[in-house]
Amino acid sequence: MSVDGRSDDRREGPTPATGNGLGNSNQAAFVTMASQRLRLNPNKEHKPDNYDDMQLDFSPSIFSSLERYLPPSMLGMPRHDKVKFMREILLKYLPHGERNRVQKHRDYRQKIILNYQPLHKELYELDPATTFVPAFLEAVNENTEESFKRICSEPSPGIYTFEMFQPRFCELLLAEVENFEKWVGDSKYRIMRPNTMNRYGAVLDDFGLETMLDKLLEGFIRPIAKELFPEVGGSTLDSHHGFVVEYGNDRDLDLGFHVDDSEVTLNVCLGKQFSGGELYFRGIRCDKHVNSGSRPEEVFDYSHAPGCAVLHRGRHRHGAKATTSGHRVNLLLWCRSSVFREMRKYQKDFSSWCGECLHEKKERQRMSITATKQELLLRKEDESTA
Ligand SMILES: [Zn+2]
Repeated sequence: MSVDGRSDDRREGPTPATGNGLGNSNQAAFVTMASQRLRLNPNKEHKPDNYDDMQLDFSPSIFSSLERYLPPSMLGMPRHDKVKFMREILLKYLPHGERNRVQKHRDYRQKIILNYQPLHKELYELDPATTFVPAFLEAVNENTEESFKRICSEPSPGIYTFEMFQPRFCELLLAEVENFEKWVGDSKYRIMRPNTMNRYGAVLDDFGLETMLDKLLEGFIRPIAKELFPEVGGSTLDSHHGFVVEYGNDRDLDLGFHVDDSEVTLNVCLGKQFSGGELYFRGIRCDKHVNSGSRPEEVFDYSHAPGCAVLHRGRHRHGAKATTSGHRVNLLLWCRSSVFREMRKYQKDFSSWCGECLHEKKERQRMSITATKQELLLRKEDESTA
């Protein structure tokens, strides 16, 4: 079992005790503040500050969304102090050792964007009316649990499927990706592939589609995830990794069993004609239980059709069977929540989403009920013999 992600895409930092490379004065301030923990649940009444005007090394919106999780005593503090506290937390996901890498990646991306000529400029602005099928758009505009359940099928627990993209949008995106691949071939430019498991495919964020995918995440996927996956940070998704993968005889054939480096994954089939390539799912697991067996009710295979989306938790173990003929191209959006990742560190029991944690919890409850019953029986026997 592997976590499907470039190793450099993981955001794991040193623990506070090992230091974080900041100067001594910052370090001292950090130690005082680190004794304060984030709240488990956001303060929904609190109206967060706006950080747009500040010079920050993380997106201002991340500070605004994280603010609701601050300890109550901190909410009234000046923005500067709140930023200091939140930045320390965020830095753990992006420690100094990684900063060079981030800068290099920024340069890599910038170089591509400066040199690559987009084929369909309209793709780079997300126009909902020409991108989505009407039913999907209506459901998002209505933005209620009912409206999402109306368009979604749930063929297996935690796996939601719905029609999403118009055929024309799929065609344009496929053509854009082909155009990009051709440019890569012609220019002999060495590009990074989407993750450790795919030799083909392209990172959409790397050639100019980052803003468009941000809009897709914020305006369309987060509202759905908020209703369908609240227990894994669905309402606080704040970053993404967007890419296409290609399968077929001259491409990758299949995809091994894995979990994604995401809280929620959107997987949309763009085309083209193909047979085989079914997705198979085998239950949701936390880190500790990622290699445990699956129960019969967790076994589910799904055949994808162009334009259709599958939305599932990143920790839902899955893979793709061999595409036996034709050419299959899928859009993947790994949606992440920095808040959820921080909170997860303080927790040990993931029974709200891990199938195995839930099983263990039920087992503990069953044992304790049995023990109580036995104790009562013994007591009765004692009473009758007394
Ligand atoms: Zn577990």
